[in-house]
Amino acid sequence: MADYETMRSFPNSDRDWSEENWKYLIEYLVESGMANYKEIASLVLGHLNPSQVGTSVASNRSFQEHYPKGECWAAVRQWHFDQTGKCADCGTRLELQADHIIPKEVLGDAANTLDNLTLRCRRCNVIKRPSHKQGGKTFLTSEAALMWILFTKRPSTYQEFERLCRAYGLTMASVRFEESWAMAKWLQREGKYYISEDSKY
Ligand SMILES: [Zn+2]
Repeated sequence: MADYETMRSFPNSDRDWSEENWKYLIEYLVESGMANYKEIASLVLGHLNPSQVGTSVASNRSFQEHYPKGECWAAVRQWHFDQTGKCADCGTRLELQADHIIPKEVLGDAANTLDNLTLRCRRCNVIKRPSHKQGGKTFLTSEAALMWILFTKRPSTYQEFERLCRAYGLTMASVRFEESWAMAKWLQREGKYYISEDSKY
């Protein structure tokens, strides 16, 4: 049986986790009843499905202006086929989105041409936004990081959870941490999580 005590011996930072460490975490999540293999596979498959460029790009008026009426989708489809199918920044195949190479903040509507588009994953897309600059790059998406902290660090108070989240580099409003702390409360009720009496929530 996979157990969280074993995970405590894994590297402190998720950046240093090996594939074996991640495999162990998946086994732990399944064995502790957080998710089953079918649900995990379903999520991965859903995130592998290429993004809806027909809606996000071909239906965008400023892209349509570059093409004769009714020909925009054919051009976008060909552009999509010609991509590598991997994030331009990190190489993942998951959660890809069409994204500008030179940002819209620089070029305005002129950014909306196919040769200025690439595929980037949701995480890399988010961290390159100016609002996220000061936070630095986090290894996981923020919602994944919140659960990684909860399940692998097992903070016994909300205050410790928030401190770990900030130390991880999460810069969002603390209401996000309070939302995530609900998982600890739910699991505590099932006897699967320990919350100390010192906990704020
Ligand atoms: Zn990426």
